[in-house]
Amino acid sequence: MWDEAVTGYDFGSGHPMDPVRLALTMGLVRAYGLDRAMRVVAARPAGASTLGLVHREDYVDAVRAASADPKAADQSYGLGTVDDPAFEGMHEASALIAGQSVGAAEAVWRGEAAHAVNFAGGLHHAMPGSASGFCIYNDASLAIARLLELGAERVAYVDVDVHHGDGVQAAFWDDPRVLTVSLHEHPQTLFPQTGWPEETGAAGAAEGSAVNVALPAGTGDQGWLRAFHAVVPELVADFRPQVLVTQHGADTHFEDPLAHLAVSLDAQRAVQEACHTLAHEHVEGGRWVALGGGGYAVVDVVPRSWTHLVGLAAHQPVEPESVIPSSWRDEVYARTRQLAPARMTDGRWPVAWRRWEEGYDPADRLDQAVLATRRAVFPLRGLLA
Ligand SMILES: [Zn+2]
Ligand SMILES: [Zn+2]
Repeated sequence: MWDEAVTGYDFGSGHPMDPVRLALTMGLVRAYGLDRAMRVVAARPAGASTLGLVHREDYVDAVRAASADPKAADQSYGLGTVDDPAFEGMHEASALIAGQSVGAAEAVWRGEAAHAVNFAGGLHHAMPGSASGFCIYNDASLAIARLLELGAERVAYVDVDVHHGDGVQAAFWDDPRVLTVSLHEHPQTLFPQTGWPEETGAAGAAEGSAVNVALPAGTGDQGWLRAFHAVVPELVADFRPQVLVTQHGADTHFEDPLAHLAVSLDAQRAVQEACHTLAHEHVEGGRWVALGGGGYAVVDVVPRSWTHLVGLAAHQPVEPESVIPSSWRDEVYARTRQLAPARMTDGRWPVAWRRWEEGYDPADRLDQAVLATRRAVFPLRGLLA
């Protein structure tokens, strides 16, 4: 999913979410010819009825008002704040990004494509009634809500952004049809200070439909992959979703300026690949909607990470050792006056990790995090902790 105008989602100079990251990602996708390995389409912006599947009408009205006159932004809706400054055209740009995720969900549901990617999406912090954490409309929640509207009975959402996928969890907190799984840096050390393992969904039918893995600050490739594989595949296999929606925020990277995990591009690619495999193994038709998310190392990390994601979804994976086309490196320099990376790897491929099934160490902080999640939620789903 791509419409050049998604780069209009721009909070202004000095804000970490610089839309150049989207332009450079699409540039790298093109440099690898991936735009010819799949169909690139633009969906319509999400309209009022679609936005209403998740967002409150008074909030959408507030976004429209801030969009028309940024100075009039209503901070009680989280608009016009340091994290979410109002800008002209904010409603249109946000609705356009949301529309791409909804369009991706529709295409996959109808079988027009097995996989669809919207790397401009993954704005997982937006709440039904307020903006939060650089997110205005929650395209991930809207895509899932649209799938439910189309008749889906089981949708799995897996979020590997460094921040908790709080907005998506909140949107489906009491809905057993949606399994939300978020792996993130521990809420004690990072925004939005939620995503504790004890958050497992509303009491009753939805209990056990929210899953949170709170990773210690500093977690690197091996711990991150170990935690992912100790939690996600078993849950997805058991849930048997009709669609898998994944969020691939690239801010887990060791170079990311806003968080404290130490994950490499190579581990990010390994998790993308694992999500792709999960879709083929456990979802009828391999229905997979992959979204972007955070990521503030906008030159060095984000374009490479999401180009790998696109390559995997297009069944034309980019080899980690691949030397990046010089045309793209020139584009990077022209746009940013920064030197572009030379290869599609951080030099850690292939990444090895210890499998959970081989045993764990109760004194290890990473293993404690995994255990806390498994103990909190696995029994609720009828699985052994
Ligand atoms: Zn993030
Ligand atoms: Zn595939």
